[in-house]
Amino acid sequence: MMKIMSKDRTDLKGMTLPELEILLSRWGKERYRARQISRWIYQQFAGDFAAMTDLSKGFRGELSRECRISSPPVEKVETSADGTEKYLFRLEDGETVEGVLIPEEDRRTLCISSQVGCALRCGFCATGAAGFRRNMSSAEIVHQVCIAVKRLAKRGERLTNVVFMGMGEPLENPAEVSRAIEILLSQSGFGLSGKRVTVSTAGVSKAMLELAERFPVSFAVSINAPRDELRSRLMPINRRYPLGELVAAMKKIPLRSGRKVTAEYVLLAGINDFESDARDLALLLKGARVKVNLIPFNAHEYGDFISPSPETADRFREVLLAAGIQTITRERRGADIRAACGQLRGAAEAKTP
Ligand code: SAH
Repeated sequence: MMKIMSKDRTDLKGMTLPELEILLSRWGKERYRARQISRWIYQQFAGDFAAMTDLSKGFRGELSRECRISSPPVEKVETSADGTEKYLFRLEDGETVEGVLIPEEDRRTLCISSQVGCALRCGFCATGAAGFRRNMSSAEIVHQVCIAVKRLAKRGERLTNVVFMGMGEPLENPAEVSRAIEILLSQSGFGLSGKRVTVSTAGVSKAMLELAERFPVSFAVSINAPRDELRSRLMPINRRYPLGELVAAMKKIPLRSGRKVTAEYVLLAGINDFESDARDLALLLKGARVKVNLIPFNAHEYGDFISPSPETADRFREVLLAAGIQTITRERRGADIRAACGQLRGAAEAKTP
């Protein structure tokens, strides 16, 4: 009973600044109060309203009766030998998702989830293997960032980048992902620049362009195969949004000067890693402002693909470089804690052995 009552209070986490302003204006409060509260939530990590000392006692009491700030503790943290941290987030309904913090010399990148599971069933992906449970709310999405920022602050570090490359397809959950992005970019939220927030998509062209119109974020598109026939086999979503349409959409993304769209390409030995595939990929991407991120397949127990040899990956890269396409091979991070790209499986793991 108590639990149900607490959930009846309006969760302020996950609300955008305009939403907070509307809520407060209904109570006859000044507009700038929204900004104050937002800073308390995302910059001071206030867990309750009592901490918000620049608000009057009466107002704080009112807020405590009507509202709450959801903040479930992180359930498990695993640290890799290379410093990568994997988080298991328990959501309020008991579901779980994973996130990964990747420290590099000059960057601290958090990889976050946007759905519990995923409906797209890409053949090589561990998340897809268990199917879809539900969309995450903006509160749940930004809470992953709150946890990481707070942990980093304790050691005097700052989060520099956020990538939607964890569990789920962000553009199958565009409404909540948009609200979360608004908070990530807001000055009274996390204050990140759009350049440092990357939405990775399996290729939901329409939603991608709509999001690109609204926010100056970066995009990464999981191409993974240079021809429709192969891509449809690996990624069923290709039947809905085939390569021609997808690449056309990539070319339409508004880009500031010098910026590029990332084309991700998971290398699967004997499947899509031939030199002819690299040549086809170069042709496909011709005329697009892209850089290619090659991701050697990370093995997991839900599929029998294998990763190509480093030599094969190098040869693939050489072909793209020769075609004038900026290409890097993504380093494997956190593999010892199953935090590497495509290995996240979370909740479903326990349920489907
Ligand atoms: N749904 C989004 C974001 C999550 S997947 C998308 O498809 O982009 C993030 C990236 O991990 C994608 O590029 C995907 O192709 C890649 N990936 C999935 N499983 C992988 C695996 N086992 N090894 C390497 N990369 C993988």
